[in-house]
Amino acid sequence: METQQFNRRKFLHTLSYGIGTLALAPVLSAFENVERGKKLGIALVGLGGYSTGQLAPALQQTQNCYLAGIVTGTPSKATEWSARYNIQKNNIYNYDNFDTIVNNPAIDIVYIVLPIALHKEFTIRAAKAGKHVICEKPMALNAAECREMIDACKKANRMLSIGYRLHFEPHNREIMQLGKDEVFGRITAVDAGNGYTWGSGGRDSWRLKKALAGGGGLMDMGIYAIQGSRYSIGAEPLFVTAREEKKRPELFTEVDETVIWEIEFPGQLKATGKSSYNANWSYLNVTAAKGRFGLSPAFGYGGIAGFTSKGKMNLPQINQQAAQMDNFALCVATGQLTRVPGEEGLKDMQVIDAIYRSIASGKKERII
Ligand code: NAD
Repeated sequence: METQQFNRRKFLHTLSYGIGTLALAPVLSAFENVERGKKLGIALVGLGGYSTGQLAPALQQTQNCYLAGIVTGTPSKATEWSARYNIQKNNIYNYDNFDTIVNNPAIDIVYIVLPIALHKEFTIRAAKAGKHVICEKPMALNAAECREMIDACKKANRMLSIGYRLHFEPHNREIMQLGKDEVFGRITAVDAGNGYTWGSGGRDSWRLKKALAGGGGLMDMGIYAIQGSRYSIGAEPLFVTAREEKKRPELFTEVDETVIWEIEFPGQLKATGKSSYNANWSYLNVTAAKGRFGLSPAFGYGGIAGFTSKGKMNLPQINQQAAQMDNFALCVATGQLTRVPGEEGLKDMQVIDAIYRSIASGKKERII
C-alpha cells in the first residue's frame, strides 16, 4: 500500500513539474500546515447515514485531515456532533449560512454527503467559497451537471474529488493492476453486479424519489459495477444496451429497481452487469485469455475477497474512507492530482445516462 506520508523534498519535486492550475499560495499554506503536523480541516455537509456511520468515524483515524466542521439543517445534530467530536462552534453551519464558510481558514475541504440532487449546488457553492471539494457518488443527476461542477471548480482553482473509496481499497486496486498489466492476458469478458434488498429504508426515503435521487438502484449501486468494469478493463466504453425489471412496482414507482446491461468496450469486448434494490449482489468477474480473476464480495466497506486463477488474494482490509480522505488531503497539500477527480465521476454518469436512454428507447445507445 502506498504511503500517506509526504515531505518537503517530495513536495518541491511535485512543484518542479508543475501544480496545474492551482494557485500556489493556498497550496503552500496547506502543505506547511500538514508539515507542521497540523491536519487539514474537513467539513461534512449532510449528517445522514454515511457521514454518521462511516465518514466521521473514519476521520478519527486519518493522518492528514480531521473533522473540523459540519453543515446541517438540524440544530439538534449540531449540538450532538459538536459534543461528540469536539467541533468548534464557529465551524458549524446550516444550509443557508453555508457560504460564509469562505471566511473560515479552519476549513480546507468540504465533503458533500447529501442526496444526489443537491450535489451540484453544494459543490459549486463550496468551490466559490474557496474550498476544495469531495463530492459523494453518484457525482450528480446527470453528465451535464457533472460538467458544470468540474468547470466551477476549475474556475475557482479548487480541487474536486469524488467519494470513490474503492480506488484506495487493496483488492480493487489489485484488480486494476491485473487488468492494466494483462497478467492473465487480454481481457475477453467482464460481469459485475451490485445491489441490496430494500428494507428498512422505508417508503419516504429520498432514494425512492426521482427528483432527489435521479434514479434508483442503478444510480446508487450499479455505479460500482460500472466502475468495476471500467477499471478492470482500463478503457472507456462506447455503447450500451439495457433493460429494466420490476418485481415491486408499488414501491419503486419513480425509480428503477433492477437494471440489466451490456456495455461494449473497444475491441468488441463486452461487459455485462446488473444493479438492484431487490437483490443482494456484490461481485466482479473478469475472464481473460489465460485465466480469470475477480472479487466477491466486491464493493462493500469491508470483507472484500478476491481470487485469481492461481488462488485466493491475500490482501489486507483497510478503512477505505480514511485512506480516501487522507489521500485527498495529501493531494490538496502537495498539489498532486487526485486519482478520483470529477472527470472520473463524469465518465460513470455518461454511462448511466446512456443506460437510461437505452431503457427508454429499447435500443443500443452510444455513450458519448
Ligand atoms: P441519508 O439519507 O442517510 O442522509 C442524507 C442527509 O442529507 C441527511 O442528513 C438529510 O437530513 C440531509 N438532507 C439535506 N437536504 C435534504 C433533502 N432535501 N432531502 C433529504 N435529505 C436531505 O443518505 P446517505 O446514505 O448518507 O447518502 C448521502 C450521500 O452519500 C449520497 O450521495 C449517497 O449516494 C452517498 N453514499 C455513499 C456511500 C459510499 O460508500 N461512498 C455510502 C452511502 C451513501
